[in-house]
Amino acid sequence: MGARRDKGHHGTETRKLVAEMLAALHLPGMRAAYEECVRTALQENLGCEEFLRMLLERETETREARRIERLTVQSRLPHGKTFATFDRRRLPPGTARMVEALGDGGFLDRRENVLVFGNPGSGKTHLLCAIADEQVRRGRSVLFTTCSLLVQHLLAAKRDLTLAGALKKLARHEALVIDDIGYVQHSRDEMEVLFTLLADRYERGSVLLTSNLPFSQWERIFKDPMVTAAAIDRLVHHSIIVELNMASYRMAAAQKARKADSGMPAAAMEADA
Ligand code: ADP
Ligand code: MG
Repeated sequence: MGARRDKGHHGTETRKLVAEMLAALHLPGMRAAYEECVRTALQENLGCEEFLRMLLERETETREARRIERLTVQSRLPHGKTFATFDRRRLPPGTARMVEALGDGGFLDRRENVLVFGNPGSGKTHLLCAIADEQVRRGRSVLFTTCSLLVQHLLAAKRDLTLAGALKKLARHEALVIDDIGYVQHSRDEMEVLFTLLADRYERGSVLLTSNLPFSQWERIFKDPMVTAAAIDRLVHHSIIVELNMASYRMAAAQKARKADSGMPAAAMEADA
């Protein structure tokens, strides 16, 4: 009886010491799982190797979850634009297959670009964000920015003579999402830094971008025909091009809502679309 109590006392002491050491060694996953793993090991009569494996698995899982949390925050991807909220049935079958094939992240390994074109409201931003989000969940490093913010950032860096450093920082991300290239008209200076960025990333990291403008109108973005050709050439060389030539999702949603509201026949609604 006395011996048993002694052993129990030892167990508590040991557990406390182990918990302290796991904290000091920064092993939060093992620390959180330790007591439960001891219980399971006693109940199921596990050997010490299995016990150790179970603990290490918990630490690995905790670290991976934290890493993905960190990558999610760092990505600056807009909230809610994921595949969970994206209706894939709206995509033409060919496009859906293309998007499906991007899932495994091979395009990031091959440093391929994904270029999404289409009219406003066709779902370009949502689709690209969903693709990027899927990669973050697989532990890949992504950064989302709009074209306007990006050029402002690069131009400020150039003025401060820190452009090289800014490009280096961007190069740390495996995917750079540039939303809405060509949507706002930019000055020559702004376009010059954008071109510098694209040239810097060429074959070194993926660029994922959306645009309302087809390539044929990209001279409006880059102003100069030579620069335009050079930019398109670098982007297209290793790329997957997605064309979302479909009706505006916003328009369709608004029409659906109005129809439900007024009970007006569909034909009447088409007229003012
Ligand atoms: P674009 O960038 O082409 O202008 P967005 O991606 O911003 O279009 O889409 C417009 C709105 O419609 C957004 O609120 C978006 O979440 C929604 N949307 C577009 N396509 C889909 C889709 N297939 N499933 C669910 N929501 C969609
Ligand atoms: Mg958009």
